[in-house]
Amino acid sequence: MTTVTRFAPSPTGRLHVGNIRTALHNWMLARKAGGRFLLRIDDTDAERSREDYVDAIREDLAWLGLEPDGEERQSARLAIYEAAFERLRVAGRVYPAYETAQELDLKRKIQLGRGLPPVYDRAALDLTDRQRAEKEAEGITPHWRFRLDHTAPIAWDDGVRGKQKFDPAQLSDPVVRRADGSWLYMLPSAVDDIEMGVTHVLRGEDHVSNTAVQIQIFAALHTAGMAGADAAANLQHPAFAHEALLVGKEGKLSKRLGSLGCDAFRERGIEPEALIALLARLGTSLPVEPIADRAALIASFDLGTFGRAPARFDEADLERVNAAIVHQLPYERIADRLPAGMDEAGWHAIRPNLETLAQAGDWWRLVTGPIEPGEFSAEDRAFLAEAAQALEWSEDPWQALTARLKASTGRKGKPLFLPLRLALTGMGHGPDMGELLPLIGEAEARARLERAARG
Ligand code: GLU
Repeated sequence: MTTVTRFAPSPTGRLHVGNIRTALHNWMLARKAGGRFLLRIDDTDAERSREDYVDAIREDLAWLGLEPDGEERQSARLAIYEAAFERLRVAGRVYPAYETAQELDLKRKIQLGRGLPPVYDRAALDLTDRQRAEKEAEGITPHWRFRLDHTAPIAWDDGVRGKQKFDPAQLSDPVVRRADGSWLYMLPSAVDDIEMGVTHVLRGEDHVSNTAVQIQIFAALHTAGMAGADAAANLQHPAFAHEALLVGKEGKLSKRLGSLGCDAFRERGIEPEALIALLARLGTSLPVEPIADRAALIASFDLGTFGRAPARFDEADLERVNAAIVHQLPYERIADRLPAGMDEAGWHAIRPNLETLAQAGDWWRLVTGPIEPGEFSAEDRAFLAEAAQALEWSEDPWQALTARLKASTGRKGKPLFLPLRLALTGMGHGPDMGELLPLIGEAEARARLERAARG
């Protein structure tokens, strides 16, 4: 059976590092199995969903290189949910409830006050037809709850958390439909997972209790005769795995999530490959390494390595991985993002000095000039005058120049190299001079040495 995973964001905001990680892991799970990775836009909440967020989600996935194999939108599938709902209604698995939000809130407070878990008391199930008719005559339209089967214990073997067990009596019958007819997340998601043949649901551990409820929704949908691609494999529900949440260095990440999206990363010069390399392994027992080769990351992907403790996202780690990734980027991949005139040799000379690709321009100015050579002592000026004369163009002009000067002046180490570097680049540190000097060129190099010698 083909592995099918899905990433199911609600387009009510931009993707953040937590969503990106979930998307990545679903993508990797599908790629490793040679399966399909779907993007499902969870936009049943018409008020909060926005089209520009849908576009942004697609753009972010494209920037990350996590192209989906298919895209579905819940807002285009309302008739399917209606049909599924109707089946559940006929089967007696959904029921109308009339409590207002305030009433429910009060019930919860009373339960908590008595030290009881705030589980919905199912008062709506006890209403007679007449009582219901009265409510509706008063103009109260019901919302709808899914009736959990208290006699069917819930259990699954979670891909990350291992054996999970829930007593349905300890859970509230979830509201699946609002009074205005709109859908909450719980039912459409299960319907889609069945219909789209989703084999693996991998999401954050904040969904564990939703899974418990959805396992019964899946079962009820099957019993009510709704079976998708997975029926052939006799699957009651997809395999579930819940990954531990991401936390920041100092604890919660939620406050900062707004600043941890693709746009912000891109602006800070973070390469998608760095984000991928870090997030692929963060929270797993595998070491985070600057692996730019996705096939290698995919090959090592294994839910069995995922830990249950919250994964710590540290931006300093991301920057470190990013620098190491930049040092590996091949010229053809980034040629169009480099400063004008910078060729492959230029890229190779400058690459090891970068933390971000954007810094390439600063270093490239050492080649194109003009540079500010700084001030030298009389002794160094004489040395540089000699250098200007000794400069001779060859395969390796830096090697030739420093060898000649070493022999003629007796200088070595820093007194030999530093004045030359300063005169030629205006900087006390930087790219390898052996690679840089040929890029500066003979005439310009001689002019720079002469200028520094004049002081
Ligand atoms: N739209 C849901 C969310 O963003 C999807 C959860 C799921 O993967 O089922 O939390």
